[in-house]
This record gives sequence, structure tokens and C-alpha cells, in this order.
Amino acid sequence: MRDGRRYVPVENVSDFYRLNVPLVLGNSFTITGQGRTIKGQDGGHEVFINSVKYVLCFPIISKGGRLLISAMDVTKIIEPVMRPGKIKNASAVRNVILDAGHGGHDSGATGPFGAEKDAALDVVLRAKALLQASGYNVRLTRATDVFIPLEKRPAFANRFPNALFVSVHLNKSNTVGGTGIETYALAPRGVPSMDEANLSYSDFNLYPGHAHDSENIALATAMHSSMLRHLRLYDRGIKRARFVVIRDLTIPGILVEGGFMNNPTDARQIAGNSYREEFARAILEGVNRYQNAVAGELQYFQPTAIVAATDATTAPVIKKDPVPVGSKTSINKAVNQAASALASPSAPN
Ligand SMILES: [Zn+2]
Repeated sequence: MRDGRRYVPVENVSDFYRLNVPLVLGNSFTITGQGRTIKGQDGGHEVFINSVKYVLCFPIISKGGRLLISAMDVTKIIEPVMRPGKIKNASAVRNVILDAGHGGHDSGATGPFGAEKDAALDVVLRAKALLQASGYNVRLTRATDVFIPLEKRPAFANRFPNALFVSVHLNKSNTVGGTGIETYALAPRGVPSMDEANLSYSDFNLYPGHAHDSENIALATAMHSSMLRHLRLYDRGIKRARFVVIRDLTIPGILVEGGFMNNPTDARQIAGNSYREEFARAILEGVNRYQNAVAGELQYFQPTAIVAATDATTAPVIKKDPVPVGSKTSINKAVNQAASALASPSAPN
């Protein structure tokens, strides 16, 4: 326990997933085995699972010479990413709802090469064509340059069964220094948003999107790793937030930020047809990989290993994990404890 939070030693994580004993060098650890790698460091706010960067719900800590990871992160990141095939009730995808950010009088981010609303819509229209050609039904929250209130976007998406929601945005920073791509999944209940260091009472609100925490992170993983492969921009990682468009969803969903409109290098790329086409391909590949992952056919995501592949169909397919569900280990305990802790959250500082 630390700050009323439960933690799990990293050795228990490797033990649970039948990976090698963690290699601890200085203040960092690496777990390998079965073609997977999990890396992190003491005090670190990030964990890398097969080279995909996740911003942790809570930092890694050390105690008595051991490195520990929060039970929340084990439950909400490591488990669904390591074993997406075990996510309960994850349904096959028939409908994909694409949400082009902003529109109409709301231009979103602007830069030397135009407005976010136009780039996002162009990417969405390209992705729609690719997804339809692959047999998905595609619905758009907007197909033209019109303003749609935020609340209406998830409300529209929630009408469709067997569906996924992908909100497409481009980024803007206060300075021109911001670069790269990032993917947002809904912050689980009891977890601070983005870079907030401390919890606030509102972090304990329960939203419809929380019913799909596991699918959300699996979808973020599939989509983010596909975007890294196709777009080749700096990796800002998979992050957490409570944006209205993902918070109010009753289906799995994420929000992607595909580069910075006000960074000259990012913006020049975003303005080009080839980047937008690759972005659209990344969305198709992300949906395909999510579908494979929850079906238990693709157990992990490794953008670096797949760079040589020419398309999604040539990505390696890993057989189902032999680790039995329900084995009595501290991970299961941690998962249960995290769930009960959430049921009666203590007052945050
Ligand atoms: Zn935006």
C-alpha cells in the first residue's frame, strides 16, 4: 500500500504471465519471454509493452529493494494488453463509427498548412473507403464541414451494435515544439487524467465508457501501434483522459491525435496526400488488429517487428496464451483488490 493504493512486485507480474525473472539494472526492470517485453523504471510514469509506450495510471515505486507497479495498472493496462483474448464480452466488429474532430465554426488546431477540421475529415473519408472495402459498415458523425456538438457524437455512435468508435484529431501545442502522435483511452475510474499528478473527486465519477476499459486499452494498443508503423512520427504514447466523446460511449472507443498542426515538420506531412492515406490505412489496420486481438489470435503488438510487413494481413499471428485463467496468484488478488478499492474509493488528497 502507498497512498492507499495497492502495488504488485514486478516479479509477480512475470511469474503470472510465465515470463522470465525480471532483469533489474539500477532503477529499471525488463521482463522478457514468449516474444514479449515489459519495461519500466522506479518513479517512471511510463511502461513499454512490446515497444508500445503507455502512460501509467500511477508511477512505478520501489520498496525494500523491489520494484512495484500499481494494481490499477496491472488491471487496466498489462492484463488486457497481454491477454486481449480474455476480455469478457468483447464483440466482433461490424460497425466502425469514425468521428472527424471539430467542424464548421470550430476549426480546431490551425497552422501554416490549414485547419485540423479539414485534415481530420479528409483522413476520415479516406479511412471510410478503406474500411468499407474490407467489409465493415462505416458511419460518420460528420461527412461535411459542419459543427456537431461534442455530446451528439457519442450519442450517435451508441446507436450501433458490434461497433467501435474512433475520433480523429490533429494536435496543437502552446509552443512550436510539440511533435508526434498520441492515442487516448478513457481514464479508468479513480485514475488521474493525462499529466495531472493528483486525483480529484471528479476522477471517481463513473461514466458509460468505463464498462469497456479493457476493450478501450486493447483498441488503443492496436490503433497506436498501427499509427506508429504507418506514420513514423515521434511516439508520445497511449494516454488517459475523460474527453466527452470517449467518456459517454457505450461501445469501445478511442481518440487519436495524428501529429501537430503548428509544428512545421509535422504540419508539412499532415498536409500531404501520402500521410493522410497512411493515416487512413493505420485506422483500417488498427481495427483489424483489435478484432484479431480480442478473438485471441494476436496476443501482442510490436510496431518495430512489423515494420517490414507490407500490410496487416502479413502481421505475425501468435497462438492463444497457454496461461490458465483463474490461477491463484497475487495478480488475481490485485485485480480483485483494485476492483473493491474502486467500489469504495477513499477520499483523494
Ligand atoms: Zn482536436
